[in-house]
Amino acid sequence: MTDSILVLNCGSSSIKYLMVAMPAATHLARGVIERIGSDQGSWRHADGDGDHIEARHIPDHRSGVEMMLARLGGPAQPAGSTAIAGVGHRVVHGGGKSTAPLLVSDAVLADLDELAVLAPLHNPASIAGIRATRDLLPAVPQVACFDTSFHATLPARAYVYGLPYELYEQRGIRRYGFHGISHEYVAQRCAELAGRDPDDLNAITCHLGNGCSITAIARGQSIDTSMGFTPLEGLMMGTRSGDIDPAIVLHLAGPTGLGSVEEVGELLQEHSGLLGLSGVSNDVRDILAAAGAGQERAALAVDVFAYRIKKYIGAYWAVLPSVDALVFTGGIGAASAAVRRLILDGLDQSLGVVYDDERNSAASGQVEMEIGGAGSTARVFVIPTDEELAIARITHRLVKPAATSAEDGFKLH
Ligand code: ADP
Repeated sequence: MTDSILVLNCGSSSIKYLMVAMPAATHLARGVIERIGSDQGSWRHADGDGDHIEARHIPDHRSGVEMMLARLGGPAQPAGSTAIAGVGHRVVHGGGKSTAPLLVSDAVLADLDELAVLAPLHNPASIAGIRATRDLLPAVPQVACFDTSFHATLPARAYVYGLPYELYEQRGIRRYGFHGISHEYVAQRCAELAGRDPDDLNAITCHLGNGCSITAIARGQSIDTSMGFTPLEGLMMGTRSGDIDPAIVLHLAGPTGLGSVEEVGELLQEHSGLLGLSGVSNDVRDILAAAGAGQERAALAVDVFAYRIKKYIGAYWAVLPSVDALVFTGGIGAASAAVRRLILDGLDQSLGVVYDDERNSAASGQVEMEIGGAGSTARVFVIPTDEELAIARITHRLVKPAATSAEDGFKLH
């Protein structure tokens, strides 16, 4: 008996979706709707009938969801023969209350509405996707999977900021951490590949994509992570600054600064990081090419990027009881041998982490590979993430608990 599960990942102007037949996770359809709200909207959809690419104006998330469901439910389409058993939604911010995935109810939606204040850039799109899918498929259960849930195990010393305590108590200002679905997924895969019990694994997982974060995992649980109150803190990213002295914000938004708080916010979110530093691009491939052609700022940008990751690895090494494995994932982490080399070089001297450069070079196409070398203190893995698959598993488990009790060994939150 198989169940079709639809996964929706709504961004501020995009909807990525995947439909799979569970429990085998056979892909039935996959697609992406982009530039919602602009005149240059586009839709790519692939299923058993082939690829469909279309340019069209998609006014809002609701029309995008309508268009997608019509295609999924049309004659001879994936959902035409098998009804959708559940829809899983990626929600970036679960706040302090949502420490596990939830079946969506009116009360859950009301809580999500309140949380939009904490994640104005991310949550409203997910909420729009959930509302549209609920309206259009009223009989199908919906599941909200939070990027923050995996980090619900952070101890207070890792999530409390050095600010007046009332700000935490009254306004929820604390570290939440993000990319949790990805960190948990790769930690589980790492345990499988290493032949370890996931509840016993001590690891440092590096998710390096457009957004970048790093997590310290002790006995299968997140004990510290680099993103904080929002996904702006921590590592330097494609266009986000990551850690900076907070006084820089005060200076830039002050009387002799650059502009309003909103403008400084935009600078930190969209014009900083690899893009701002290199002046070339937010894409590591372009920056490496520019650095190779002698552009000094490009070389500096990748140097800073890798140096910061190295520093966080050292910090997390110090707080973990031991480190069984170091894991790289994300568009950069799982594809760029050059960036991994910059991060790993020298760690043999400081932490005893040895890598095999031939295997590292070979791991450049989003494939699972162990790249650690002989005598390394920790194993080193490249593991492409699959957040949609993780959400499909969680959703299936919540909507069909009886069918999933004997499923694979995955114990995702
Ligand atoms: P997101 O964080 O949006 O999910 P991804 O994890 O897909 O993004 O990562 C996208 C980024 O990965 C791109 O901005 C690009 O810089 C980087 N990337 C993709 N392929 C490569 C590659 N072969 N080498 C280096 N960087 C790559």
